[in-house]
Amino acid sequence: MEKVIIIGSGPAGYTAAIYLGRAQLAPLVIAGPALGGQVAISSEVGNYPGFPEDINGADLAQLMQKQAERFGARIEMDIVTSVDLSARPFKVMTYGGEYESQALIVASGASPRKLGVPGEEQFSGRGVSYCATCDGFFYMGKEIVMVGGGDTAIEEALFLTRFARKVTVIHRRDQLRAERLLQERAFRNEKIDFIWDTVVTEIVGDEVVSGVRLRNVKTGEERLFSTQGVFIAIGYAPNTEFLGGQLALDENGYVVADADGRTSVEGVWAAGDVCDQVYRQIATSVGAGCKAAIQAERYIAQLEDRVYPVR
Ligand code: NAP
Repeated sequence: MEKVIIIGSGPAGYTAAIYLGRAQLAPLVIAGPALGGQVAISSEVGNYPGFPEDINGADLAQLMQKQAERFGARIEMDIVTSVDLSARPFKVMTYGGEYESQALIVASGASPRKLGVPGEEQFSGRGVSYCATCDGFFYMGKEIVMVGGGDTAIEEALFLTRFARKVTVIHRRDQLRAERLLQERAFRNEKIDFIWDTVVTEIVGDEVVSGVRLRNVKTGEERLFSTQGVFIAIGYAPNTEFLGGQLALDENGYVVADADGRTSVEGVWAAGDVCDQVYRQIATSVGAGCKAAIQAERYIAQLEDRVYPVR
């Protein structure tokens, strides 16, 4: 029987693991499909305090893991398939086994949202990608497109110019959502072009991608645009499938959690992108993981009839 299981190994999960490890609760972290979460596939992180020079996302994730392990957290490379929150202890089912735990912290993050157009599924991994840092290298000297206008799309478009000959950003409006600094860098970059007010309606090709069908949302004009790669960065959807509807979710599918990370089930907290559709920053996830861990620590102390030290 575990005292506390943390589902997910992004900044929220690792921070919770550091706090719970330091509280001598030997937390079990079930890492999920992507060890380190989204930060581990970020090219550079420049807005996380303590790293005055940009730090590579994978390096930052590894540092967090190392710190959690130093305090006794155990990281299990496994994926949670379902949970049973109807009775105590909670049950957590994974591909590798079944666990029981007094408390849970859900920090399962979010995954890239799909465009939902014909060809997207078919060419996934054959010209369609959701991760510039993972796949950018395969597009050396090629002409590619980036769909989206947020921080991720622009940051990744900039990163992709290291490899690609040309990156065309296709955005559904005529203004980017990305922060000003990134916008300015992108506008200055000679390898980046923009197609405004336009959506992708289909991804076409044979063995691999050869183009995208575009529609201008203002004029309705349609055309085929040749490209060798389609990167998609149009936001994220929370990873909540394994919860099987046992925690309250909001209308967009995010776990409903209060400011302390408390969910609709006592003894279960949520932290990070799985319950945050506003900030989704490493810094905010770290804070949320910390709060959830302190709450879980108090909860376990109460269950064990221990007096919780006054902070
Ligand atoms: P986001 O901010 O939600 O932006 C998504 C972009 O995709 C928007 O430009 C949106 O268009 C567009 N979009 C959404 N659905 C679409 C669809 N069906 N078809 C075409 N376009 C679509 O997502 P994000 O860029 O991944 O960023 C997520 C969060 O992480 C944000 O809070 C962001 O600040 C943060 N982040 C920060 C950094 C950084 O600080 N360096 C880096 C990466 C991410 P509209 O603009 O028209 O809505």
